[in-house]
Amino acid sequence: MKRILVTGGAGFVGSHLCDRLLNDGHEVISLDNYFTGEKSNIVHLMDNPYFEVIRHDVTMPFFIEVDEIYNLACPASPIHYQYNPIKTVKTSVMGAINMLGLAKRIRAKILQASTSEVYGDPLVHPQTEDYWGHVNPIGTRSCYDEGKRVAETLFVNYHVQNKVRIKIIRIFNTYGPRMHPNDGRVVSNFIVQALKGEDITVYGDGSQTRSFQYVDDLVNGMLKMMATGDEFTGPVNIGNPGEFTILDLAEKVISLTGSKSKIVYRPLPSDDPLQRQPDISLAKEKLGWQPTVRLEAGLKKTIAYFDQLLRKG
Ligand code: NAD
Ligand code: UDP
Repeated sequence: MKRILVTGGAGFVGSHLCDRLLNDGHEVISLDNYFTGEKSNIVHLMDNPYFEVIRHDVTMPFFIEVDEIYNLACPASPIHYQYNPIKTVKTSVMGAINMLGLAKRIRAKILQASTSEVYGDPLVHPQTEDYWGHVNPIGTRSCYDEGKRVAETLFVNYHVQNKVRIKIIRIFNTYGPRMHPNDGRVVSNFIVQALKGEDITVYGDGSQTRSFQYVDDLVNGMLKMMATGDEFTGPVNIGNPGEFTILDLAEKVISLTGSKSKIVYRPLPSDDPLQRQPDISLAKEKLGWQPTVRLEAGLKKTIAYFDQLLRKG
């Protein structure tokens, strides 16, 4: 049994990771400031004596003795990370410094939840880990993209300078139960709109693409990455290579929900990447990992979750 700290543990991905780590027999501490996470995501774990909850902001130093740290604290939806861009940069950068300082002091292994956004609006397709990216440093997404890029820089430098055992994964668009219904990301938006019979808001002409990964696949990839030997630090892409246009997604959601919603078109936000698809050769080779949940199967589970949530009111 290991003692494991999950920052952002009350968020969408973090709460699934806490579930899985506890199921695997570990002791888990969730650290969260509840900016985008919710207690309701982890309330079912509160009776578990091996689960602890700490309200804390990663931009402030924190001390605890653990074996492993998963650093997930950071808003992930464009609406939320653009709400207070300075805070988003602080969360990524100071959060990384604080957690890496902790990992160094207590000799813990630490995994960074980086993102496909480090590739920006990519000119290389599909994206491989050796692509340096195409990021606007002063655009609306830069607080998130550049914050995550600096976090990767910090991770690599703590590894080189201080021998901290690091792991970096670049997560591609992930969806599933416990996304916030008002989170603003495309899968949750479309499902909630379809279930409520509201218009489905496609930004731009809907020809931009994304590759959608079900959350269970991501959690498997995270655990496999953490379990690799110290010599493998990443970064490694963790995503589902199945690539869809946003219009494809809207049509799939309408068909799976049997909704009467109509598709409406809204302006494309600035710097919205045109295409995104992970090359996962490295993850296959180094982690023996690949996603197993197809989009339709994952959407059905996510629709069932939101359906129940909306019925509760
Ligand atoms: P989320 O917004 O649901 O979860 C983030 C969690 O971090 C929330 O619980 C939030 O309250 C917490 N948090 C935010 N700022 C904090 C701070 N300063 N101190 C402490 N806690 C703070 O998002 P998610 O989808 O679960 O994403 C988790 C991580 O994975 C993020 O780091 C995100 O950048 C990364 N990621 C996610 C995706 C995706 O598609 N879900 C894709 C790429 C990367
Ligand atoms: N999008 C959309 N309608 C919505 C929400 C998002 O068409 O209601 C588009 C958005 O413009 C982007 C894609 O869906 O092209 C994915 O958006 P999301 O915010 O989920 O994540 P991103 O990959 O852009 O960070």
